[in-house]
Amino acid sequence: MVQEEKPEGTEAPQAEVKRRRVTGRGRRMCPLCAEQITVVDYKNISFLRRFMTERGRIESRRKLHTCAKHQRALARAIKRARHLALLPFTADHIREMGWPSPTPVG
Ligand SMILES: [Zn+2]
Repeated sequence: MVQEEKPEGTEAPQAEVKRRRVTGRGRRMCPLCAEQITVVDYKNISFLRRFMTERGRIESRRKLHTCAKHQRALARAIKRARHLALLPFTADHIREMGWPSPTPVG
């Protein structure tokens, strides 16, 4: 019995697999966890604005690095603030209403 042997050199040498260890360093922490914020105040507009884009949208989790719990809390607070007209819904609101204080029309 003659076993067919593959000629040497055809198979690529096994590349060394570098395993990345998840450590505290490098991996960004949720800014709200870092500040130990448990309740997001919907009245704190300057705080909420930090988590919104210029166009009035809620910034993505990828960018904010917020955890699920805080992203939910933020979204809820921002939506609540919008409902109370403390924050704009869209960029159009900013332009049309002259955010932050819309001029009352009689
Ligand atoms: Zn968090």
